Amino acid sequence: MDIPRIFNITESAHRIHNPFTADKFATLGAALRLESGARVLDLGSGSGEMLCTWARDHGIVGTGIDMSQLFTEQAKLRAEELGVAHQVKFIHGDAAGYVSDEKVDVAACVGATWIAGGVAGTIELLARSLRTGGIILIGEPYWRQLPPTEDIAKGCLATSISDFLVLPEFISAFGHLGYDVVEMVLANQDGWDRYEAAKWLTMRRWLEANPGDELAKDVRAKLTSEPARYAACTREYLGWGVFALMSQ
Ligand code: SAH
Repeated sequence: MDIPRIFNITESAHRIHNPFTADKFATLGAALRLESGARVLDLGSGSGEMLCTWARDHGIVGTGIDMSQLFTEQAKLRAEELGVAHQVKFIHGDAAGYVSDEKVDVAACVGATWIAGGVAGTIELLARSLRTGGIILIGEPYWRQLPPTEDIAKGCLATSISDFLVLPEFISAFGHLGYDVVEMVLANQDGWDRYEAAKWLTMRRWLEANPGDELAKDVRAKLTSEPARYAACTREYLGWGVFALMSQ
């Protein structure tokens, strides 16, 4: 079981697999007023940076589940490196339908809401692991500016403009699902650059090391087209943030 190999190639050097940077996760951890010993569940935990740094900085304990074998291995190494391997556990597996045995204080899905069919389904799934009064974290894109055409939305790798909402509408949508938005930390264009531009050097180096690979042609094409596509579309139109929710 694994995610499509292209992501394991293009994001192999990423510690954070979304437009957040280390300082954004630090800001979010502080904003949530995490207490030592708080239990955190993370569906689609990637290379584990959120759980590992919060374990180090706030003394949380946590479990992450991710379908990428590579990212899960990297998460375990990161936990060792930060000296928190006794506090955090990383499971390689499908997070669809995952409910924790013990209720958690914070249940998160940061940039992987397709796991439960979108934002609403993911909130429902996370709620099943959450203690009464706990916090749900959803990391998700929104339109920073509404794309003027469907072609620009596709240039942002959305299927259509209707895939995402503008920020005020997105925030209101959580209310319609019965949740208060109690905190949020938003990514910015520098963070998008760290996420997207870091893929380009990784691709270039991978191509030099793997010229005969069956994906070499695809990776070459991506390296050629991605920088300008990203600058024209994603960087201008797509926002991204983590929203902290409590049941009303
Ligand atoms: N939250 C992480 C990773 C976000 S990227 C971070 O902030 O860095 C999305 C992640 O979802 C990837 O790590 C990918 O491997 C994982 N993923 C995709 N489908 C999944 C599934 N069905 N179950 C668990 N993880 C999944």
